[in-house]
Amino acid sequence: MNTKMVIPCAASFEEAAQLINMGEVVGFPTETVYGLGADATNEEAVKKIFRAKGRPGDNPLIVHIASLSDIHNVIYGEMPEWAQKLAEAYWPGPLTMIFDKGENIPSAVTAGLDSVAVRIPGNTDAQALIRAARKPIAAPSANLSGRPSPTTAKHVFEDMNGRIPLIIDGGESDVGLESTVLDVRTLPVKVLRPGGVTPKMIADVVGEVEVAGSVMRPLKEGETVLSPGMKYKHYAPEGSLVIVKGAAEKVAHAIIDMYDATEGEKCILALEGNLSLYEGRNVFSLGKNPEEMAHRLFDALREMDARGINAIFSEAVDAEGIGLAVMNRLGRAAAFHIVDAGE
Ligand code: AMP
Ligand code: MG
Repeated sequence: MNTKMVIPCAASFEEAAQLINMGEVVGFPTETVYGLGADATNEEAVKKIFRAKGRPGDNPLIVHIASLSDIHNVIYGEMPEWAQKLAEAYWPGPLTMIFDKGENIPSAVTAGLDSVAVRIPGNTDAQALIRAARKPIAAPSANLSGRPSPTTAKHVFEDMNGRIPLIIDGGESDVGLESTVLDVRTLPVKVLRPGGVTPKMIADVVGEVEVAGSVMRPLKEGETVLSPGMKYKHYAPEGSLVIVKGAAEKVAHAIIDMYDATEGEKCILALEGNLSLYEGRNVFSLGKNPEEMAHRLFDALREMDARGINAIFSEAVDAEGIGLAVMNRLGRAAAFHIVDAGE
């Protein structure tokens, strides 16, 4: 199969929508990361997503809709009143909410769970595609399973060339990390995966929010998985990755010690303001602040693979605001190998 790249325009949305209605899978931009979309009501089409990604069948997908009036085709019963408030505040946007699953959604989408994950993306190309298809679109991130999520159409092409017929190239993803996954079925609502909508933003609307313990550590043996995606190796570059946290000078010292003691192709990931601390070494900027870090992280990890780097040392950021999502992804990419250099 040849994989075609198209720019977003009425004709390409129509072409992509036709493919979706024929049961095919297409790559498309969203504000979080690129998605691999298929008709969420077509079980065979949904199975193609799992095959294209090499994704384990027990890791459910997110259903994307264009407007709140479409949610009744996807969920069972009414939205709880607190979920309506969250939808008013943050949809369209990088927030995925978990509801009881509606009957139209085949169990392949939810990996057999009786709950369904739903999001209204804010990206106008994603919106246009969903409207053109006139279907809810099931979509996980458009990477091969285990690889860092794609934040450009080029990343999608790297992983999906020959596996899907079409990719819509909408430029760089704004946020750069996947959506916040929030279980809203009961109170307090619970963050299963941190993302662009932070726990504080959620608490501002509903008062109280829990964050699943597994967000910042590996799962314990026998622990029930709330968000099945959390149990898999994820976001990982090919090289080894170590994260160092603490005061900037101490972090730099610890990273330099490890870097200098390591053989082979190696690289340091650091915040822009700290680059001068690593003079004379191979260092790659993660940007000026946690927002820029979120935007660049997956591209940086892919760049490490492209450069054949086998040892990566990264600075940490405070796990506050969007920093929680950054540290969750970085932590999982490093299998939570985090060194504390001290304050
Ligand atoms: P991806 O966008 O590739 O990261 O995949 C979707 C994510 O949403 C995965 O991490 C899933 O674990 C999570 N997810 C999807 N449906 C559910 C659900 N019903 N309950 C909990 N988590 C879900
Ligand atoms: Mg993913």
